[in-house]
Amino acid sequence: MTKYVYDFGEGDRTMASLLGGKGANLAEMTRLGLPVPPGFVISTQACRAYLATGTAPAGLAAEVDAHLHQLERATGRKLGQVDGPLLVAVRSGARFSMPGMMETVLNIGVTDDSVDGLAAWAGDRRLAWDSYRRLLQMFGQTVLGIDAGCFAGALRAAKDAKGVTGDLELDADDLRRLVGEFKAIIRERSGREFPQDPREQLELAIESVFASWNTDRARTYRRAERIPDDLGTAVNVCAMVFGNLAENSGTGVAFTRDPATGAPGVYGDYLANAQGEDVVAGIRNTLPLERLAQLQPAAYEQLTGIMRTLEGHYRDLCDVEFTIERGKLWMLQTRVGKRTAAAAFRIADALREEGLIDADEALRRVSGAQLAQLMFPRFTTDTASRPIATGVAASPGAAVGEVVFDAETAVRRAKAGVAVILVRRETNPDDLDGLIHARGVLTSRGGKTSHAAVVARGIGRTCVCGADSLDIDPVAGRFTTADGMVVVEGDIVSIDGTAGAVYLGEVEVVPSPVVEYFEGRQPGPYDQLVRAVDRIVAHADALGRLEVRANADTAADARRARRLGATGIGLCRTEHMFLGERRALVERLILAADAGDTAEREAALASLLPLQRQDFIDILAEMDGLPVTIRLLDPPLHEFLPDRTELTARVAAAKALGQAVEVPEKLLRSINRLHEQNPMLGMRGVRLGLVLPGLYEMQVRAIAEAATVELAAGGRPHVEIMIPLISDARELQIVAERARRVIDEVAAESGVRVPLRIGTMIELPRAALTAGRIAKTAEFFSFGTNDLTQTTWGFSRDDVEASFFPTYLDEQVFGSSPFETVDRDGVGRLIALAVAEGRATRPDLGLGVCGEHGGDPESIHFFHEVGLDYVSCSPFRVPVARLEAGRAVVGEQDRTTDNR
Ligand code: ADP
Ligand code: MG
Ligand code: MG
Repeated sequence: MTKYVYDFGEGDRTMASLLGGKGANLAEMTRLGLPVPPGFVISTQACRAYLATGTAPAGLAAEVDAHLHQLERATGRKLGQVDGPLLVAVRSGARFSMPGMMETVLNIGVTDDSVDGLAAWAGDRRLAWDSYRRLLQMFGQTVLGIDAGCFAGALRAAKDAKGVTGDLELDADDLRRLVGEFKAIIRERSGREFPQDPREQLELAIESVFASWNTDRARTYRRAERIPDDLGTAVNVCAMVFGNLAENSGTGVAFTRDPATGAPGVYGDYLANAQGEDVVAGIRNTLPLERLAQLQPAAYEQLTGIMRTLEGHYRDLCDVEFTIERGKLWMLQTRVGKRTAAAAFRIADALREEGLIDADEALRRVSGAQLAQLMFPRFTTDTASRPIATGVAASPGAAVGEVVFDAETAVRRAKAGVAVILVRRETNPDDLDGLIHARGVLTSRGGKTSHAAVVARGIGRTCVCGADSLDIDPVAGRFTTADGMVVVEGDIVSIDGTAGAVYLGEVEVVPSPVVEYFEGRQPGPYDQLVRAVDRIVAHADALGRLEVRANADTAADARRARRLGATGIGLCRTEHMFLGERRALVERLILAADAGDTAEREAALASLLPLQRQDFIDILAEMDGLPVTIRLLDPPLHEFLPDRTELTARVAAAKALGQAVEVPEKLLRSINRLHEQNPMLGMRGVRLGLVLPGLYEMQVRAIAEAATVELAAGGRPHVEIMIPLISDARELQIVAERARRVIDEVAAESGVRVPLRIGTMIELPRAALTAGRIAKTAEFFSFGTNDLTQTTWGFSRDDVEASFFPTYLDEQVFGSSPFETVDRDGVGRLIALAVAEGRATRPDLGLGVCGEHGGDPESIHFFHEVGLDYVSCSPFRVPVARLEAGRAVVGEQDRTTDNR
């Protein structure tokens, strides 16, 4: 027969799946000999059985009886006995902590018959009646589903009648009267009497804890935290200890280190004469834990000793719940505590320094996502401002701006140079332009996968969404806070997308000290966070097998990337070199090519050449000694020409005025010819290089000459030429042959030959599928995962992210956007195949990735697994990628150990 119930003495911390986190850790503390009140755990398996059938599994009641008798023997008191009854707590506790989501009922076992005996046993009548009213209140709310407000209302009325404000000012007789009222509330509201059989109280409480697994709020929480729905909760039944006694008693929570900053030293709150839930409920002001040292020195000593033991044992920050009953300390809960990103780094580094964990383990304890959080600018923390609302921290960063209520105004104001925050109930695809032009977006509805959240993360805007205390009225152009404060269009607000807070007015923004350090500032002696980041990232660098390069198009970007630790440029795009003042030359080139005017075309290319060469010289100088991968022109030509509609109008207007229109008309004809229905799938990349004679050759010449100049100046240029958007080996072969010819010419002219590698992007499914043949020509592959994702899924990012992605995320077609995290099953398979077949043809084939996935933690682990040489990402993400490249190695060690 299945065993459903485990004594605290029978379990340990490895049994969290079966006993829940709370139960497993109570068992662990019991095993360590710490003062835990005796008790037992009903397993998650029993809960699953209950949830499946709606009734407790056969045999559970008998097992609970047996363990209850054991508990009664251990405490020398019986549940429901008239003199000094045993009381128990019935507490939920799932595999993963779901704070406040499920139910707990304290003081089970008080009845009309035993309340006087409890008073006599405790020598304190108030304790007995206080425990009874608490039982009625929690039981009524949790088990019988009575609105909490009924009990709170009666409690408030009792205090008002007596003219007092605090619960503690109600004496035993007041509480006895309140018990009568609470019983009446239960009778009226639930149509039944409060059960006077303690065993029935226990059974009903256990079942309601089981059932609380499926409350709406618990389900919503699990969905947000990606906790599976089928785990169920365990139920902990534990002898009550009393912090709600007048002398030397109280209850508190404590952390072994500061969970906000990671600073060492115990940290917590204490409340005298109280039961646990009073601390969290915030009904009275708690004392800082240090005060306990004066109030109860012995208990304080013991508590801090236990916290040291726990931290040493769990080798991590722990938080605890404790109760002191007449000077005697009891431990009611511990777990490895949640912490901020800053605390995660400081604690991991401190524990390593203290010898509790090694450097690899310190690296496992932090994440790239946490590092990314530390790299956003923040609002000053010493601000006196209180948030006017809070919501979901959907896209990190700090943004300040004028409130606007519609996309159109956002665009207009932004174009006038004003920073704006777009405030909407929720956003939809029509708001896209507004989102792009705003510094941040604030909504009152929706969570992390709402339209606003997905788009804001995609385009790097700060977002707070689901701030549901705000009443937003876009028509009237105002929103109202819960306190009734009215904010109108044009008022300044500050939103914190890392914390999910909204402030009125301008809060000062400070740069991240972590970024300042990566940018080259030496950390001060007290800059513990930066020092921790420094040491952990250094260890990641030492371990990482993947190199981290940056995507950088200009010398300034290259310099930044290098400071941030990039070991090369994985993608240098050349399109910006065709913009600005150079547009005129590009127009000339296109017109000439269109007209078949060879001389004119060559003249245009010749004037572009020196400009391109200088661009490359600057970048190569900046990246001296490091690889620089330059991609030849990729986007369709019309992107460099004037807007079609605008030009049409201009030509028409000029004609009407009888002006000369020959040149613009020619241009317009070319534009019309070049116009494409689907530019993303049109004449771009290598296709352009093949049909526009001389363009790629000019670029290759500029690169080769720049490298020659660098070499002559004593530099060590290390250039790779990358051909975009090929789908067949033949395309690459033609372009590569032409390029080699140009390189030979440059070598002949200059008398020196610079080493240049030629490779290609793999960004179309067909290229991946024919990679073996492509590798005959390509010396390296760089996976363009943005285009590869678009073409594998058959959707264009700009169109889909703002339209149906939120639905797809909600419906779990994918768990995260395939543009954020590489889709292993589809795109990932193409990459793995191309890697295998490419390397089969050319064992020393260089392999990298230059899509935005190169900076995404989960994707980096995948690229490590398939054996790429490097990832390339935006300069700002370089530190995150370095960290994750190292973490991929320790992650791999974990897996090999598991297999043994
Ligand atoms: P949560 O997970 O929401 O903290 P708990 O099951 O830990 O719920 O219990 C709620 C409160 O009751 C806590 O503050 C806890 O310290 C207190 N509590 C739990 N068990 C006991 C007990 N045996 N005696 C006294 N107080 C208890
Ligand atoms: Mg708790
Ligand atoms: Mg591409």
